[in-house]
Amino acid sequence: MTTQNPIKRLAETRHEFGEHGGVNMSVEASTTFTVMKPGTMPELFEGRKAAPEGCYLYGRHFNPTVYQLGRQLAAIEGTEAAYCAASGMAAISAAILQLCNTGDHVVASNTVYGGTYALLNDFLPAKANIRTSFVDVTDLAAVAAAITPETRVIYAESIANPTLRIADIPKLAELAHARGVQLVIDNTFSPLLLSPAAMGADVVVHSMTKFINGASDIIAGAVCGSTEFVQGLMDLHQGPLMMLGPTMDPTVAAKISLRIPHLALRVVEHAERAEIFARRLQELDVPVSYPGLPDHPDYKLMQQLRCDDYGFGGILTLDMGSRQKANDLMDVLQNKYGFGFMAVSLGYFDTLMSCPGSSTSSEMTDEDLSSAGIAEGLVRMSVGYTGTLEQRWQQLESALSDIGAIRVKLPVAS
Ligand SMILES: *Cc1c(COP(=O)(O)O)cnc(C)c1O
Repeated sequence: MTTQNPIKRLAETRHEFGEHGGVNMSVEASTTFTVMKPGTMPELFEGRKAAPEGCYLYGRHFNPTVYQLGRQLAAIEGTEAAYCAASGMAAISAAILQLCNTGDHVVASNTVYGGTYALLNDFLPAKANIRTSFVDVTDLAAVAAAITPETRVIYAESIANPTLRIADIPKLAELAHARGVQLVIDNTFSPLLLSPAAMGADVVVHSMTKFINGASDIIAGAVCGSTEFVQGLMDLHQGPLMMLGPTMDPTVAAKISLRIPHLALRVVEHAERAEIFARRLQELDVPVSYPGLPDHPDYKLMQQLRCDDYGFGGILTLDMGSRQKANDLMDVLQNKYGFGFMAVSLGYFDTLMSCPGSSTSSEMTDEDLSSAGIAEGLVRMSVGYTGTLEQRWQQLESALSDIGAIRVKLPVAS
């Protein structure tokens, strides 16, 4: 696929200078904005002069600093517009609520982030009578069969959490559009690497808490789509971001905005290390899954869809066979070698390790976990870039050897 490198789009967007000529944009700290003439106020409320083209109204509506970060996200994702929210979950729920009314239906991947699963499986049916059928989205016939006259959305993650299966976004988009359905893709695992909108996705959502921010110090999200869609999120009567109010603080937007310029460097380094670890683990016969390994079920698809400059992502999984072994490995890695941290989340500069079955996917029942292919001994590793590559590899190899998962390499007798 000849997708344009997202970083080119980003570099082509207008740079926002600070109020006093600062190289960085200023933080717009106001929650309210004046108008010069009294007649402007009613026009604003009627939506005739609304931000961002017209005047700013109130901080829960558009804020200039938050809007600028949204522009950066829109450039990265190649969408007309984007806006930020206080969390990835806020972005996801706003996108679904914007597309679905009560009685409507969603077809979602059976391997999604645990919070998304709970939103679709528990919260939305109870609170809004929006129902979801969960299917294996790598099975296009199953997706097509699940669509009903009430279906408004097909929802998937570009790289599924934690199975690392790749959604065939062009085919899903084709299928969705043929049936008058919108495709929403969560691209949290693959910023820059995959550009879902260029492949036909209508809406792209992000948890910026992960790779985009990259320091595990901020919770944030974004919704990317058409101008009409993003304006709709802010509608004074019906817009889910405006009504439910998961507003991003402008100081948070300014901070994240300063981390966007080195996103590409970070993504490349995460991916390079993850790929090298994955290859070496495979050589040691450790059951490892990584979309950049030729025996990964979606390797070819990934090759076809990805932007070549960013590798295959920063996440790999190891199947240690049992929860006990998985826990032993993480324990030794953290507490003996200082390789990384036992923690949920991903996209941090240090390596983060967790057992999805008992953490981020624990919202799912045992039956759902096994049908989604989430083994109990699965360890998800978001590979960091601190320390040297060889130092980290030594730690990983030693830990695997300590717990008996690999045979110790004895020095060759002379
Ligand atoms: C973390 C995560 C979310 C939720 O994001 P928050 O910022 O924690 O609300 C959604 N989707 C995926 C794939 C995630 O990893």
